[in-house]
Amino acid sequence: MNLKEELDIDRNHLWHPYTSTIDPLPVYPVKNANGVRIYLEDGTELIDGMSSWWACIHGYNVPELNEAAEKQLKEMSHVMFGGMTHKPAVELAEQLLEILPKGLDQIFYADSGSVAVEVALKMAIQYQHAKGEKQRFRFATIRRGYHGDTWHAMSVCDPVTGMHSLFSGALPTQHFIPSPSCKYNEEWDESCLDPLKDLIRQYGNELAALILEPIVQGAGGMYFYHPNFLKEAQKLCHQNGIVLIFDEIATGFGRTGRLWGGSHAEVIPDIMTIGKAITGGYMTLSASITTKEIADTICSGEAGCFMHGPTFMGNPMACAIATASIKLLRSTPWQKRVKAIEEQLKEELAPAASLDCVKEVRALGAIGVIETKTPVDMAKMQQAFVREGIWIRPFNCNCYIMPPYIINSDDLSKLTHGLIKVIKETF
Ligand SMILES: *Cc1c(COP(=O)(O)O)cnc(C)c1O
Repeated sequence: MNLKEELDIDRNHLWHPYTSTIDPLPVYPVKNANGVRIYLEDGTELIDGMSSWWACIHGYNVPELNEAAEKQLKEMSHVMFGGMTHKPAVELAEQLLEILPKGLDQIFYADSGSVAVEVALKMAIQYQHAKGEKQRFRFATIRRGYHGDTWHAMSVCDPVTGMHSLFSGALPTQHFIPSPSCKYNEEWDESCLDPLKDLIRQYGNELAALILEPIVQGAGGMYFYHPNFLKEAQKLCHQNGIVLIFDEIATGFGRTGRLWGGSHAEVIPDIMTIGKAITGGYMTLSASITTKEIADTICSGEAGCFMHGPTFMGNPMACAIATASIKLLRSTPWQKRVKAIEEQLKEELAPAASLDCVKEVRALGAIGVIETKTPVDMAKMQQAFVREGIWIRPFNCNCYIMPPYIINSDDLSKLTHGLIKVIKETF
């Protein structure tokens, strides 16, 4: 099959994420990828500014991860987790327990981020149920959030960008408060807690849990808010019998400059979800982690166990690669690298703030954002980025760079300069 035929089949038969089948944007055929470079079939070389949606923190074609995959493949690629266990699952648990916040030591493996969120929400419900709090079956969250595309995960995504009106009636309705008005670098302002206090006053006794992306809201708005919000939210949750869930699927494994988003506030949630970067972007894997107290309470309830068990739970290939990825992360000076990326992003993106079309420029950890006043023209921009030899995929009003941690400063400059150039050209 030649490339043209392949692209025809793709265009006529394959869905791409959030893409029309009637009028699809072009897709770029990738041949391979190595380090921070993605190579297209036509020989074009792109510097990766996306880490393939937060996942490929070590870049592509990583020798340590390749080795772990090859080694595990020769043992077994999969075996069921019901009634069986294996070294890859246990070794990954051992690695995770060394880096997870203290007290979070009951690990449930799942197969994707959205499923980990479903699992976390179900844990909260079963926990409340087991405590005799059967009326607590709703969730609270903040606007501009993103927690995945499955049913209940979607119900706690931002209602506007998540198109809740389209699904209204079918989708469970949850309680939304505004995203914390106090930004990451601003002076702390107590009043940004008022919406949460009001919500709890009104609906506190029907809330099973509050779910948040700590510090950085990702796909829902690329917004960074004040760590004190997490501290105070935790107090309010605990005073009112509400479980606190941190969705660390995007923020985890160092992306924000700390190992976890919650580390910025030194807040340990009751339940935490991880995914995306867990395997260094090699395979899909996620986990929902909770405390012994919550796990045991769930299992003392009516069901006698936690009611979930995916077919590919604890997949040995994914676990083996995840173990290698976490070991690699811990053996590299990732804090220094992420800090250096942050400083360079701040410096090199700053000039964009004076452009007429730009609303705000911000950077935290290895995430740099240029927020425009009006939505981007994705088709035009994507082509321009590829012409510049960089891979950036904006959405709505956010153009952002979140490169693999191994990127060097020359390549990062190509991303920042290319991004600003393309914004100037297309707006
Ligand atoms: C991406 C993401 C998810 C969903 O993960 P999938 O693997 O795409 O299902 C959930 N929560 C957050 C914060 C995410 O960034």
